[in-house]
Amino acid sequence: MYDIVVVGAGSTGSVIASRGSEDPNKTVLLLEAGPDYSDIEKTPFDLLNSHQNSMKDHDWGFKYEPTRGRDIDFPRGRVTGGSSAVNTTIALRGMPEDYDEWADLGNCQWSWDKVLPAFKRLERDLDFGDENYHGDAGPITIRRYPDEELLPQHQAFLESARLLDYPECIDANDPSGWGAGPQPMNKLGRLRISCAVGYLAPARIRPNLTIRGNTFVRRLLLKDHQCTGVEVENADGTIDTIAAKLVVLSAGSLMSPPILMRSGIGPQKQLESFGIEVIQDEPGVGSNLCDHPAISVVCQVKDGAIINFDSPLIQTILRYTTQGSDKRNDMQIEQLSYVGGHGGPPLFAIAACLEYQYGRGEIRLRSADPFDNPIVDCRFCEDDRDTSRLVKAFRDTLAFSQTGPLADMIEVVTFPDPKRPLTDDDIAVLCRKLAASGYHPCGTVKMGPRQDRQAVVDQFGCSHRIDNLVVADASIMPFVPRANINLTSIMIGEKIGEWIRTQPSRYGL
Ligand SMILES: Cc1cc2nc3c(=O)[nH]c(=O)nc-3n(C[C@H](O)[C@H](O)[C@H](O)COP(=O)(O)OP(=O)(O)OC[C@H]3O[C@@H](n4cnc5c(N)ncnc54)[C@H](O)[C@@H]3O)c2cc1C
Repeated sequence: MYDIVVVGAGSTGSVIASRGSEDPNKTVLLLEAGPDYSDIEKTPFDLLNSHQNSMKDHDWGFKYEPTRGRDIDFPRGRVTGGSSAVNTTIALRGMPEDYDEWADLGNCQWSWDKVLPAFKRLERDLDFGDENYHGDAGPITIRRYPDEELLPQHQAFLESARLLDYPECIDANDPSGWGAGPQPMNKLGRLRISCAVGYLAPARIRPNLTIRGNTFVRRLLLKDHQCTGVEVENADGTIDTIAAKLVVLSAGSLMSPPILMRSGIGPQKQLESFGIEVIQDEPGVGSNLCDHPAISVVCQVKDGAIINFDSPLIQTILRYTTQGSDKRNDMQIEQLSYVGGHGGPPLFAIAACLEYQYGRGEIRLRSADPFDNPIVDCRFCEDDRDTSRLVKAFRDTLAFSQTGPLADMIEVVTFPDPKRPLTDDDIAVLCRKLAASGYHPCGTVKMGPRQDRQAVVDQFGCSHRIDNLVVADASIMPFVPRANINLTSIMIGEKIGEWIRTQPSRYGL
């Protein structure tokens, strides 16, 4: 019997296991379906190398439908560190208004004033650690590329942004800031500072923390509306049960809902259609899927020598507000250093990423088989408020390809076809057809007050209707914040991990 069993060693689960095990009197077991590399010397290169995403070697092999009728890969990390161990290391916070909106929805513990201390605690910002809204001593090291380390295309991007009248922004995490500048990134040189590196490595020596890799959680064990542990499948195919006083489900927004559903917690009709015994009808499980839909301008460059697949994929960012929008910084434009592959024409891309999203998708079971990945139905750009802003942003992105030094680098724009006239309606059609995930799915087990029947957990992560069960990962976000969500997922781990340690009775410990 463990005090706390954490399911999933990702951006949130690693942090909860680390913070929870700071109390030497609590035993913590962290379960992870993928491998656990206990030593940086033994960690494979794809996880250390932050210049590119790791898309295959430690991946779940999910597919998703961004817009109807397309089925494409949706990478998710399957290893200790989770998606933080395979991602691009962009370290951005949402806008203060995002968290204040979460609070307005009945989650007063998540207002900007209440989340800022956790954002400060998680980071060691090497550039702005002395600012009152930054931290300088946390587990996740963050820095920005100085001018002299920028690739030519990123230098050109910033110069073209200046010519397009966007202000310079030296710290994209300044709560009042906007404009173009270096991207804050959780990397040191090439090394990705994942949660496995930042949080788990120093915690491993604790005798009260056990980390078990290659252990797949099939379902939660439930008795009389109480969670008593988990059923796991080991690498050799044997099945065990593990008892716990508290189970924290941190399997991520695509996997936490299927685990709940297979355990009998989810939308009644859906569970019944797969012959799963319904323990608790929970209509919110799997609904409210949010993300950042994106669409890119793709360009063939004149000088192929600037396309180096061994260099950083991302170095800069533009955060801004689309014309006429009442949501501050609801858009990002990102210069991608390269796209395509070896042997093809030398290409880079400029991506428009919608940061404040109104539309919602959903996750459904494909079958009752725990190894069958769920259906991920994003429904991007079905809400006209999303499409109209993405259309404007696509025009803003095209302007980059036509302005200043970035334009000078381009031989030809390969998408969209420059020979075809593009009306706003034409771009809207492209967005509805081609918008793709920013890899930031969240919201599928949302938190909120009990009277909101779509809310599965309360603002402390506790299930409303099942005792001794907490959900803590990107799935509890009420909606996606206006930033890449890794830092927000870590912040959730910081807050809930701290509450578990300091308010054990709230969690039945
Ligand atoms: C390729 C890629 C690039 C990205 N780039 C960025 C970026 O640059 N910046 C940014 O902010 N965000 C980025 N993201 C998104 C960000 O990394 C994730 O949103 C964040 O890590 C989510 O944290 P999480 O804890 O909710 O889930 P995860 O970190 O995905 O953790 C879930 C964990 O649970 C484990 N698990 C799942 N099911 C089971 C099971 N049945 N049994 C046992 N274990 C299980 C998984 O293996 C995983 O380790 C990127 C994501 C990807 C995939």
